[in-house]
Amino acid sequence: MIKTAVILAAGMGSRLGNLTAERPKGFLLLDHLPIIEHSLKKLFKSGIEKIIIGTGYCHEMYEELSERYPSVKCIYNAQYESSGSMQTLYALQDAIQEDFILLESDLIYEQKIMTEALEHGNRDVILASDFTNSGDEVWIEINDKGTLQRLSKNKAGMTRIFGEFVGITKLSYNTFMKMCRIAEMMFPEHPKMDYEQALVSAAIDVNLAVHTVNRLVWCEVDDEDHWQRAVEVIYPLIQAHEAAFSPVKRNILLNPGPATTTDSVKYAQIVPDICPRESEFSAVMQYIATELTQFVGSPKEFAAVLFAGSGTAAVEAIISSVIEDKALFIIHNGAYGRRICEMAENYSLPYIEYASPYDKAIDLKRLEEYIQISAENISHLAVVHNETTTGLLNPLDKIGAICGRYGIKMIVDAMSSFAAVPIDMKNMNISYLAASANKNLQGMAGVSFVIANKEELMSTQSIRPRNLYLHLYSQFDHFSRTKQMRYTPPVQILYALKQAIIETKWEGLAARYKRYCEIWEVLINGITRLGLRTLVDLADHSKIITAIIEPQIRGYHFTEMHDYFFERGFTIYPGKFAGLNTFRIANIGAITKHDMENFIVLLEEYIGKIVKE
Ligand SMILES: *Cc1c(COP(=O)(O)O)cnc(C)c1O
Repeated sequence: MIKTAVILAAGMGSRLGNLTAERPKGFLLLDHLPIIEHSLKKLFKSGIEKIIIGTGYCHEMYEELSERYPSVKCIYNAQYESSGSMQTLYALQDAIQEDFILLESDLIYEQKIMTEALEHGNRDVILASDFTNSGDEVWIEINDKGTLQRLSKNKAGMTRIFGEFVGITKLSYNTFMKMCRIAEMMFPEHPKMDYEQALVSAAIDVNLAVHTVNRLVWCEVDDEDHWQRAVEVIYPLIQAHEAAFSPVKRNILLNPGPATTTDSVKYAQIVPDICPRESEFSAVMQYIATELTQFVGSPKEFAAVLFAGSGTAAVEAIISSVIEDKALFIIHNGAYGRRICEMAENYSLPYIEYASPYDKAIDLKRLEEYIQISAENISHLAVVHNETTTGLLNPLDKIGAICGRYGIKMIVDAMSSFAAVPIDMKNMNISYLAASANKNLQGMAGVSFVIANKEELMSTQSIRPRNLYLHLYSQFDHFSRTKQMRYTPPVQILYALKQAIIETKWEGLAARYKRYCEIWEVLINGITRLGLRTLVDLADHSKIITAIIEPQIRGYHFTEMHDYFFERGFTIYPGKFAGLNTFRIANIGAITKHDMENFIVLLEEYIGKIVKE
């Protein structure tokens, strides 16, 4: 078992500007602790007993550190300004007589990666992650044998990109010696060479295995943007992952929310008891409100208003709070559009119900003609973005443009599209949007929110409230002044939402939708192969939920099929469309293409079974 780690820490971190004016990168603080110390703790925890740090810039700080940690030894590369990382490593030759783990001082990483490196069967192995989109990637190219061929920041000409170089490498003593001999030949011409160059050259006659760790959370800190990402996203995520010590059974929810969550989101709910009036908790809510807004607009113009309650609460808050005396025009092309009509009825609001087929894209020309006739009496239009009944996607940009032409304010139920299908409130001309924590955000059920154009919202102050709890302006005003919700917030659900937002930012909205779309393709290809059809034309789909026409087989019963899947860890959903019998499959949440492939295998099995019976 490997007992030695080598950390390269000589660099000046000049791309970090002021942050490294008085300290090397390893001494940037996360939770009051230098990142190098986070790293040391992880190494010790993995069974490392001896750590050698190659120092340069601000070497005294590392020397002080080694006084506190007897197993840490520093070796100073006096030429650090005119040399590269290979020189620093080369200077450690006399101190290393064994296999070791090699890493750099500015790496922030999860404990599990060390375990993966140490337990890998090969004596030489470099670690790879799937793609981080950090903008500073070093790509790994492999050869026919699946071992290291090339490392480069430049993708051009790379034919077989395998993953991203993490910067944690397990090296045998032999390979290290080879690298030193290579370096001696190259130094005269390349005094600033990086150790990665020596690694690639050594790989010509050493089998350097490449080992990928999927969904690994890590980053390097080379510039101020990296550092901000490290503080706001990577470090909190690592903490959450490491807190999730005993995983809960993973169910694959293919119902349209609540969706499958990560363990780190589940565990984020386990927090010390706290009174939500404390400023510590206000900060959590403020973070949530700002970040939710930023997914769809600028916090200068828009604000998020949080409510305890399921998604319907947020829609009802808008409908009951913003209509004065003119009519609300409601597009009804699914059960959720119909639900908005019901709200208008219950509050006795003047409204126009515009029915459009559930299974066909809305006819925009006809819609506009209809609006034109009665435009004077309409103040607002409400539409569901992704009709969860069928998976039909209503085109917000085009409907927003129509609203713009007639001075109508648009209200969007974006419950099942928010945080996946792109939404830009300003460009789409949206005044109010409603969504909830437990769908594409991959959080827990119990919080919903409205994102409102602030100017619009301010103007609703004069409308007489129709209710107390759901009154949008009051909730907004109270939060703006006090950073509190008016009534008890769902504390733990909000902690989980904060974690879910961090994870959403980590994945990226575009990447999340791309993942969902890829899972959807697996679903569509699978059901097509099995002879099943979707209710809505493929071109009009949100690619988030799909209503599938039930198989015309005598032995088929939805409930039996549901139970068959449920026993196997998958949850499917019944249809909600009177015309044709359908069942629904959503492809949201912390799930993968592989999960959907497994679903298709089971579906094929199930259909095969009932056909035989
Ligand atoms: C999920 C959903 C809602 C909210 O439903 P709740 O059960 O109240 O959370 C509203 N509109 C749409 C389009 C939805 O998909």
